[in-house]
Amino acid sequence: MYKQKFKIILSFLLILLSNFIFSQKKFTIVLDAGHGGSDSGAKRSYSDIGLLAEKDVTLSVVLKVGRMLEKNKDFKVIYTRKFDEYPSLSDRTNLANRSKADLFVSVHCNSAQRSSAYGTETYVQGPDQNDTNLEVAKRENDVIFLDEKDRQTFGSYDASSPESLIALKLQQSKYLESSLLLGGLVEDNFVNKDKRFSRGVFQKNLHVLRMNAMPSVLIETGFINHAEESHYLASEKGQDEIAESIYQAIIDYKKAIDRKSGGASNNITVKKPEPEKPVEVALKNDFRILLMSSPTKYNDGDPALKGLNYILPIKENGQYKYYYGVTNMASVKDINLKTAKDAGFRNAFAVGFMPNQKLSTGYYTIEVYVGEKLNGNSFILQTLKDVERNKESGVFYYTYGKVFTLEDAVKIQKSLEAKGIKNTIIQKVYR
Ligand SMILES: [Zn+2]
Repeated sequence: MYKQKFKIILSFLLILLSNFIFSQKKFTIVLDAGHGGSDSGAKRSYSDIGLLAEKDVTLSVVLKVGRMLEKNKDFKVIYTRKFDEYPSLSDRTNLANRSKADLFVSVHCNSAQRSSAYGTETYVQGPDQNDTNLEVAKRENDVIFLDEKDRQTFGSYDASSPESLIALKLQQSKYLESSLLLGGLVEDNFVNKDKRFSRGVFQKNLHVLRMNAMPSVLIETGFINHAEESHYLASEKGQDEIAESIYQAIIDYKKAIDRKSGGASNNITVKKPEPEKPVEVALKNDFRILLMSSPTKYNDGDPALKGLNYILPIKENGQYKYYYGVTNMASVKDINLKTAKDAGFRNAFAVGFMPNQKLSTGYYTIEVYVGEKLNGNSFILQTLKDVERNKESGVFYYTYGKVFTLEDAVKIQKSLEAKGIKNTIIQKVYR
């Protein structure tokens, strides 16, 4: 009788156990070797090792990482390329999205105008801002080549459309934290295991990351045009170390994620299910980080902006206020604030903007030019009708348009950019 009972319990346990083992979903990872085929990426010729091309280093490192991961039965590895060929950026992200991957890791090499630059860095998808038009994105993504097909796919992406913004914000809050976790692990390994110099983990708006519906990182493994680092990148030893560091970071990342979700892969202990984390609810207001107020106008890339992108300056009472990032997620707001403080804006703070709020007094206009008097043949006056001109202490200020919400002002600004009128400033006028 007891024996019978024991048998029943045993077989019940076995069924449970086998269910558990077979229901274990593999962790799907997409490994993306940057560039390929006609797109060599960064390259440089050296007298001793000949031509060193980014596309060869990235492929070699990715294949090494993949070989290590494939030995682990918990992982399913998908490659965007295994040969010297060029899948478009859309091919790469489509593949990742279609295969419902859990993680996307893109491997690249850096190059810089200064040949003294060296070290590693990892990028995660950064906070979006109003000026994500294709030209700006292309300039910022100078390591990433856009082909005709990509232009069609990504060209239609409009950061000012509500759908894109909502999708983007959701994606950010869900995946940013995980991406930052992996980025940190990768850079830690480069420093601690390989004794290399890490330039850090950064948020940036990169095409190959933006369209991914999963945590994603882009790893810059070193500088092709740095005399010493290039030889490390070209060497078997260097590539082995880089691959090992990336591999170990992925393993540790999965452990951390498993711990969080309560499903450790290899031990069969019954765990109390952790209470489900409440899904983060979007805030009513958008939040931007106020970096500083200054009487001086700084354009994109000015050292005064300390390397931060996605900055929206708004002129008010003769002062330029510089705002960084925009989000309606509390977690992303906190991350943006930290990014601003880390960059050196110690007094930065978050400011709420009610979406589509109409000004009760005054209006918004676009400052299109400040300086000496423009003559009638100038590009701006030829392109725009109804430009207003004001003179203050010998300086001419040209403004265009009159609207009552910040969103409408951003729209005008974008349409001006499309016409080739750049570095304009949104101005709040009280009268
Ligand atoms: Zn690259």
